[in-house]
Amino acid sequence: MGDEERYAAVIIGTGFGGAITGCRLAKKWDKGAVLILERGKRYPMGSFPRAPHDFARNFWAIPEEKRRRPKHVQKLVDRGEECHGLFDIRNYHHMDVVIGAGLGGGSLIYANVFMIPPDEIFDERWPSSCRRPHLLPYYQIAKEVLASRPIPVNDDPRRQIIRQKLFADVAKRNGKNSELVDINVFFGNNFQSPIAIGQQDKNRYGAIQTSCVYCAECDIGCNYHSKNTLDLNYLYVAERRYQAIVLTEHLVTNVVPVDSQEHDDPEADGSNGYRVYYRKLMSQGSQTLSAFANRVIVSAGSLGSTELLLRCKEHFRTLPRISDKLGQSFSGNGDFISFLLGSKLPANPNYGPVITQRTDYNLFQRFDPNRAFILEDASYGSVLAWFVEGAKPGFLHLGAIGRLLRHWLTQLTTGKSPGSLGWALNDVLSDDLSYHTCVLLCMGLDKSNGVMTLDENDHLALDWPFRDSFSLYRAILESSRRFASTVEAEFFTPLPTWTWPIRNNVSAHALGGCVLADDPSKGVTNAARERFGEVFGYRNLFVADGAIVPTAVGANPTATISALSEGPRDNGNRPGCESLGLEKASCCMESRARGLV
Ligand SMILES: Cc1cc2nc3c(=O)[nH]c(=O)nc-3n(C[C@H](O)[C@H](O)[C@H](O)COP(=O)(O)OP(=O)(O)OC[C@H]3O[C@@H](n4cnc5c(N)ncnc54)[C@H](O)[C@@H]3O)c2cc1C
Ligand code: SF4
Repeated sequence: MGDEERYAAVIIGTGFGGAITGCRLAKKWDKGAVLILERGKRYPMGSFPRAPHDFARNFWAIPEEKRRRPKHVQKLVDRGEECHGLFDIRNYHHMDVVIGAGLGGGSLIYANVFMIPPDEIFDERWPSSCRRPHLLPYYQIAKEVLASRPIPVNDDPRRQIIRQKLFADVAKRNGKNSELVDINVFFGNNFQSPIAIGQQDKNRYGAIQTSCVYCAECDIGCNYHSKNTLDLNYLYVAERRYQAIVLTEHLVTNVVPVDSQEHDDPEADGSNGYRVYYRKLMSQGSQTLSAFANRVIVSAGSLGSTELLLRCKEHFRTLPRISDKLGQSFSGNGDFISFLLGSKLPANPNYGPVITQRTDYNLFQRFDPNRAFILEDASYGSVLAWFVEGAKPGFLHLGAIGRLLRHWLTQLTTGKSPGSLGWALNDVLSDDLSYHTCVLLCMGLDKSNGVMTLDENDHLALDWPFRDSFSLYRAILESSRRFASTVEAEFFTPLPTWTWPIRNNVSAHALGGCVLADDPSKGVTNAARERFGEVFGYRNLFVADGAIVPTAVGANPTATISALSEGPRDNGNRPGCESLGLEKASCCMESRARGLV
C-alpha cells in the first residue's frame, strides 16, 4: 500500500448526511484531509437529460449489480451498457424505492421540502438523546444553510400557482389545516424581495443560481440550478473553500479495519484506521483503488449504507462485529401517491416548484399514530404533461371521438378538413387533461418494520410487511377519495401497483437500516452524545444519513437527516465532536450556518 493516499476522513456518498458531514470535517482539518467519494455524476447547470434517448439512460444500473430493475433499464444492462444516471429505482417485495445518484444525492431529484416533524414522532423507538428539543438548533442551522423558505407571495401573475390555491381551498372545505411549506429553492438571496424570475445571481456561497422559473421539473433535475441542491451549498463550500477532495463516479465496495502495521485486519476494531476500497467507474476495465482513512463516514443513503455494511459484515466479513440489528427498521415514510383526472376545478400541476403546500391529517394536530399523515400538492413538468395527455384512460377520449365523427360529417358535407395534425393538436389541446389533473402525494407514519437482508447475489433485498401499515394507507385512501369528490373529479386512482393482489408501494423517502440506539441490542449506531452515529463494535466508523433514522418521521425527511448530521447538542457540547473531530457547538451555534460562507 506504499503510494496509497491517506486521509483524516473518507466520506462515502454525497446526499444530506455526506454533504453536511463532509463540509464540517473539511472545515475542521487541513486542505486535502477529507476525501468524499460519490458513485454518481456531477450535474453542472443545464446538464440534466431531457431528450427521450438521454432520459432512457438516466438511471443507475451497472452490470455487476444483479438486481431487479425496470425492464427497459435491464435491457440496457443486458446489452452491456453501464448507466451512471440520476435515478436508482429498486423493485423489492411490496415496496419499490426511488433514490438519487449524483453529486448531491437525493437533493438533485427531491421536491425541495424542508419540514420539521412534530414532537410526537420521537417516540420510545428513538434514543433519549434524539428528541425534538435536542435537535431543534440543528434543524435551524440546516434550514439556514439550505436557505429554506415558502414560495414568494405577491401580486405578480407569474407567481400565482393555481394548484396550491386549489389544495388550500379543498382543505378549507374539508375542515383541514393547510399551509405553505418551506422549500429549498432560490428566488434571490433576500427572502423579502425576490429577484425577477429567470434572473441569475450568486448565492451566499458563491455558486451561480437562477431565480426559479416555475417549470415544475424539480424531480428530474433543475436545469436552471434554482433548487438549493447540496452541490451548490454544503458540497460547494467543502470543495471550493475547504478543499476537500471530491471524486464522482467512484463506487465504494468494501471497508476494512487495519492493524497497527496498517495491514487489513477484519479482527481489528478500527482504532488504527480503515482501508476503503472503491472502483473508478470511468476507467477502462475494472480498476479497484484504495485509500487509508483514520475515520470513515458511511453516507450512502438508507439503502446504500445498509447494503454496503451488510456486505462488509456477511459477504466480505471485514466488519463482522456490526450489530445483528443491521437492516432492520426500514421505513418508506408512509409514502402513498394517487392521481385524479378531470377535476371540475383547474389544478395546473405543470407550473411552479414541485411541492408548495401541505395539508395536515393527524400529524401536526390531533396526533393519531395510526392515521398520521400529510397531503402535498405534487406537480410534474410539462414534458411529462404531454405523456399524460397520451396516456389518459379510453373513456376520457369520448369527447375526442365525438369531435372526430362531427369532423367526418363536416368533411362529407362541405369537403373541408383542418388536416390531421390540426386535428391531433386540437384533440389534445381542447381536452387539456393535465390542467385538470391532481397528484396527491401523501406521507405519514408507517410501522417502520421493513427488513433489509442480502439476497443470493449478495445484493440488498427488502421485505415490506405492508399489511401492518394498513390503517395508515386506508386513512390516506379515504381522504384522497374525499379530495377527488370535493373537486368533482371524473377519475381517481392510487398508483396502479397498489391494486389488489399486487399491493406494491413506492417510496421516495427510504429510512432506517442502521438505526441509532442506546445499545447494540436495539440498533446499529451509537446515540450516546460523545460517540454520536458511531457503529457499535467499531471506533471511528460512522453512519450519517437516512439509515440512522429509527422510524418514519411523517414529514419529508431531509430536515431530520440534516439535523442529525449537523449533530444534536447537549449543554453546549456537540455530541461526536471529539470522535468526528468537529468543533464545539457552543462556540459556533450562532455562526455555524453563516460559517459556511
Ligand atoms: C423524487 C424524490 C423527491 C423527494 N422529495 C423530497 C422532499 O421534498 N423533501 C425531503 O425532505 N425529502 C425528499 N426526498 C427524499 C430525500 O431525497 C432523501 O430522503 C434524502 O436524499 C436522503 O439523504 P441521505 O443522506 O440519506 O442519502 P442520499 O441523498 O440518498 O445520498 C446517498 C448518496 O450516496 C451515493 N452512494 C450510494 N452508494 C454508494 C457507494 N457504494 N459509493 C459511493 N457513493 C454511493 C448515492 O449515489 C447518493 O448520492 C425525495 C426523494 C425523491 C426520490
Ligand atoms: S420549478 Fe423546480 S425545476 Fe423549475 S426552475 Fe424552479 S426549482 Fe428549478
